[in-house]
Amino acid sequence: MSENGSAQEKSQKSAKSTPKPKPKDPLLEKRKQELKQCADERVAAEKRAYQTVLALIENPVSEDALQQAAKYIDPGHYNDVTEERALEKLCGYPLCSNSIVGSNSKKVTSPVSRNAHFRIDCFSNKVYDVTERKKYCSGKCYGASIFYQKQLSTTPVWLRKGEKLDEVELIPLDKIRGVPGLPVSIDDPVQTALLDEVKAMKLGESERETIHSDK
Ligand SMILES: [Zn+2]
Repeated sequence: MSENGSAQEKSQKSAKSTPKPKPKDPLLEKRKQELKQCADERVAAEKRAYQTVLALIENPVSEDALQQAAKYIDPGHYNDVTEERALEKLCGYPLCSNSIVGSNSKKVTSPVSRNAHFRIDCFSNKVYDVTERKKYCSGKCYGASIFYQKQLSTTPVWLRKGEKLDEVELIPLDKIRGVPGLPVSIDDPVQTALLDEVKAMKLGESERETIHSDK
């Protein structure tokens, strides 16, 4: 075979081994674009939720800011808010600027023991789980916070486009009764055993309010 013939053959082989790009499927391309847009919207919504959580952690928070925040967060994000505020020793309810520690704060702290998990109401003889309540300076702030959180939409924040959200209501602290904690059913054998334990210990009146400590 001549040199020319060999070069031609090589050139033909090379042309055969490089497949021509297929024409793009317009439907597939459209679907890809839609998916990318969805992903971008999800990232943007989550970023906005994160920024809203940060804004609610820092005092002061206005009533308007708290109401507007409901558009961008879900109940889980609000849990993050109360959790972070409590870690910063601030009352979990964003509208309250009280501290939940006593000595260094200018305002009075919660009467709930910082170490207690449960509390007995001596008047009603009911038992309450105060784990969440301890994040607040008062039962009223705890109640107002629950009232707010229960109104938050559970629709994922990135799927709210076009959704009509009702404006959340805020309850004035002087219009709400203090919430002592989550009621514990004494039908629960574990709780009943705890109660029996407390009775058996015959604690003094002042100690009787706290039935379990994590000290
Ligand atoms: Zn408070």
